[in-house]
Amino acid sequence: MSRTAPALSLSAPEALTSIERWTSLPAEHVLAGQQRVLEMVAAGRPLAETLTAIAEFAEEAIPSMMASVLVFDPQTQSLRKGGYGRSLSPQFQEAIDGMKPGPDVGSCGTAAYRSQRVISRDVRVDPLWTPFVEFAAMHGIVSAWSTPLKDRDGQLLGVFGMYYGEIREPSADDLRLVDHFSHLASIAVEHWRQDAELKRQARQDMLTRLGNRRLLREVADGMAGDPAYQGVTCALVMLDCDHFKLHNDLLGQRLADELLQRVAERSRERLGDVPLLARFDGDQFVAILKERNGTAQRRVEDLLAAFREPVVVDGSPVTVSLSAGVVEWQPATMPLDEALAQAMEAVEVAKRLGRDRVVVFGDSERARSTGHRHVTRLLSEAIAENRVDPFLQPIVRLSDGRPVAFEVLARLRGGDAAGISPSVFVPIAEESGLIVALGDSVLRFAMRTLAEHALSLQGLNLNVNLSVRQLTRDGLADRTLALAREHGVAPERLTLEITESQWLDVDGPARDNLQGLKEAGFRLALDDFGTGYSSLSRTQAIPLDQLKIDRSFTTQLSLGARGQALCHVGLAMARACGIPVVAEGVETPEQAAQLRAMGYQFGQGYHWSRPMPLERALAWLQRREAA
Ligand code: C2E
Ligand code: CA
Ligand code: CA
Repeated sequence: MSRTAPALSLSAPEALTSIERWTSLPAEHVLAGQQRVLEMVAAGRPLAETLTAIAEFAEEAIPSMMASVLVFDPQTQSLRKGGYGRSLSPQFQEAIDGMKPGPDVGSCGTAAYRSQRVISRDVRVDPLWTPFVEFAAMHGIVSAWSTPLKDRDGQLLGVFGMYYGEIREPSADDLRLVDHFSHLASIAVEHWRQDAELKRQARQDMLTRLGNRRLLREVADGMAGDPAYQGVTCALVMLDCDHFKLHNDLLGQRLADELLQRVAERSRERLGDVPLLARFDGDQFVAILKERNGTAQRRVEDLLAAFREPVVVDGSPVTVSLSAGVVEWQPATMPLDEALAQAMEAVEVAKRLGRDRVVVFGDSERARSTGHRHVTRLLSEAIAENRVDPFLQPIVRLSDGRPVAFEVLARLRGGDAAGISPSVFVPIAEESGLIVALGDSVLRFAMRTLAEHALSLQGLNLNVNLSVRQLTRDGLADRTLALAREHGVAPERLTLEITESQWLDVDGPARDNLQGLKEAGFRLALDDFGTGYSSLSRTQAIPLDQLKIDRSFTTQLSLGARGQALCHVGLAMARACGIPVVAEGVETPEQAAQLRAMGYQFGQGYHWSRPMPLERALAWLQRREAA
């Protein structure tokens, strides 16, 4: 924004010569006063200071006059104290502050209301002043002239008030002087408003209307220097949309932006009045809460719970969840960047634990050092002691609900290990390398099951998950084939699932292994399709036998047209490649019916059964057979 003074209509020598006629002040004095005010405006001095200078200048030009400038606040629709000449007492200023414009509110309130000058020749008898007669007497006011201040579009900026201790009616020259000072005051207020708006915009995220990083930094700096926050512990919260990249791919950028707006709105609504809520980066938001850990955590948990309800994007419901990291933060002692880094680390942990949850930084550190080590120990003990006891979950044909296979899902048995979910121990197993031994146990379990329960299984296949760490080890194909032979199991009874994201890494030994497995007769499935951003064309090199569409597609399905469209796309892609498709995460009969109507052949999910121990799975199968 340009810092030069706005042009005044009364600035040239002709103006000076005319103003000279209206006042007894010397011309240079008037010019210097006007110049001083405009310089204050241009220098961005506080508005009250500039308006006070104008009021004092006016009092000087018109002896025995008392001047006040009120500023209109559009937000509260009220007149706030702006600047006053020396002859008005502080009590007068306080009393008038916050006055609402109205049809009979003295001369200033009425002038603002009518958007017209109001001259009260004698306030003692003027009906506009009836409620304020005593007030006027207290401050020695007899005459009052009020001139509304307006911007170039005629919008109200404030009111210039002039008061006299005697009955006065303005002459034509008086009115010209009044207009001159009102004009100066209008320039000051309008300039200040524009400046404030620019400052606000520079601290606002244009997309979501939340604060931006700059505001975050300023608020943090302000808190650090604020005596009220010395020694006070607050919470810094980082919020991150889960699977945002997926949403972006599915919705397209325009609607993904709209999704972010909805997330911002709901977050603002739920968090209410907090020191700060800002968009940090892409799909990340930062909030500062005054509460400490426990309470802050509960508030953030409430926020996350609010997203169980879908948001509406382009008229359709979309389910989105957030992962949150909370850090205990003393603004005065911990640099913002350090707090942000810790919050991000906590978010990472929340993501690793399965998303849609809050992790407090201290806890995440502990989880990392002790929890992580603890899980690793329990896991390696469970593997060594043969306590890997997978569960089975049926995959059914949608047309008649008949099971066609079971997916084998790792579970640990015994003591503390039994309580750990695969979404926790599988990533840790992958990090530590234990996944190779774990995967081997699961594979042996599957072979044994196929061999020992051939009859009860009635020809059903088993699906087994393979990690990329297993795939990249030399000789996996040969060892797996040897294992199958040892158990007398036909390789085509096993479908090996590889997640789409890991498929991207398939290269070198992994490719040889996949090729070897395929040639040996094992079947291959692409797992969690839709989350890894690969295209089916990339997978063409090794032919797939099955495509498993990720649960997030099915979840969106129950939400109307958009979700259905997404499911159609997934199905169409698979069809184009001639691969049978399994929809994951089917939880309701409606979803099952919808998927069937759309042409999906297979489904898996709680609607038919949760994963269950082997014996229960076999009993479940028998009951089905009998029915
Ligand atoms: P996944 O391969 O996508 O397995 C499906 C997961 O979805 C299972 O979680 C299953 O219990 C859950 N699920 C099935 N139907 C529904 C439903 O209707 N609604 C909901 N909300 N969830 C449903 P689980 O057993 O906790 O396994 C989590 C992940 O851990 C698996 O996801 C897989 O990636 C991994 N995993 C499990 N066992 C193994 C294993 O032996 N080896 C490897 N490498 N990974 C495994
Ligand atoms: Ca799987
Ligand atoms: Ca899956």
